[in-house]
Amino acid sequence: MSSNQTDVVFFDENGLRTDQRKPDEIRPMKIKIGVLSRANGSCYLEWGANKVIAAVYGPREAHPRRMQLAGKAVIRYRYNMQSFSVEDRARPGPSRRSSEISKVSREAFEPVIFSDAYPKAAIDIFVEVLQADAGTRTAAINAASLALVDAGIPMRGLVSACAVGKVGGKIVLDLNKPEDNYGEADLPIAMTEDGKITLVQMDGHLTPDEFTEAMELVQKGCRQVLEIQKAALLEKYASVMDDDSEIVEIEEEIAEDIEDSDADDITDEMVDDFVNQVSERLARDISAVISEYEVSDETSESTIDLFDDDIDLVIIDEDEESDIDFIEIDEDAVDFDDDSDDEDDDSDDEDDDSDDETEDFSKEIDKTSADDEEFDDDEEE
Ligand code: UDP
Repeated sequence: MSSNQTDVVFFDENGLRTDQRKPDEIRPMKIKIGVLSRANGSCYLEWGANKVIAAVYGPREAHPRRMQLAGKAVIRYRYNMQSFSVEDRARPGPSRRSSEISKVSREAFEPVIFSDAYPKAAIDIFVEVLQADAGTRTAAINAASLALVDAGIPMRGLVSACAVGKVGGKIVLDLNKPEDNYGEADLPIAMTEDGKITLVQMDGHLTPDEFTEAMELVQKGCRQVLEIQKAALLEKYASVMDDDSEIVEIEEEIAEDIEDSDADDITDEMVDDFVNQVSERLARDISAVISEYEVSDETSESTIDLFDDDIDLVIIDEDEESDIDFIEIDEDAVDFDDDSDDEDDDSDDEDDDSDDETEDFSKEIDKTSADDEEFDDDEEE
């Protein structure tokens, strides 16, 4: 936003913007998914004159280890603008602007990614801006959203982003460079498919009514973006979905099973019948196995109740025949008694032994932590 805005003409006599768009129109968007072979997921996106590329790596073990979260994956997002992406060369490396954009963009994804599924892992999202023309953070989020899908990261849905702003006193969608530079306000927004906002920023000033109008308009913008994202996903994956070779294979198997039938003659009813027969057969086999090992009323030592969760250890009578391979446990070698007040002399000896073992074990742990620290230091270097 700049104070020189008064000199700039934002609309022509037909009410169209400098790039001939209507106020509620977004710039043309082109998307290609899966452009990088070494990333788990990737996406190249053009939005007007913006060109960005997003790469997702992970879920993978988080390094350095101190970044690991016990119950979920850590999500990392790096937005970077190439020095050649803007008119005046951008200074390479991180800046306050890129750190801010990386932080808010990461937060835009945190509510939608099922990070709980990957404890101690990292999901790394990198976005490179190759050409900038206002709206790069929203373009980056749209590309990252698709790269995450391409990487197979489980999510509640896509995140779609679009900016809205005020130029020449009017609320307009998806600001271009002159509108961004000389307009009165710019609000980048990201939202989920069901309209929940995951990012909202604002540069400039709006009245409460203008803000409400802007939020209504940006929902339309995000919906348009969502449709384009979905179309890009279909373009990439529709061929996979149309590939019915697996279905043909299953039909051929069934045809073999049902004598004198050709794969082409297989009807849906025949498939259903076949599946039912197989499930019934499996159910019979499973119940036969279970009944063989069910506990009898006399609770024979050689049988197990497969449904008894409380059983920790089963002692097997070696003379009994059994189809199951059990690990034999040398009972003398195991001290089942947790009671530390045991006054038995033998048990004291065992306690001494176990103390030694504990000490050795703690040494082992100390060594591992020292190794870890060395590793972390290496990484930081
Ligand atoms: N820009 C620039 N040099 C910079 C940063 C930004 O020329 O160091 C331009 C670039 O075209 C960018 C626009 O200013 O797209 C608006 O930047 P802003 O910080 O508002 O982020 P964006 O709208 O790209 O998300």
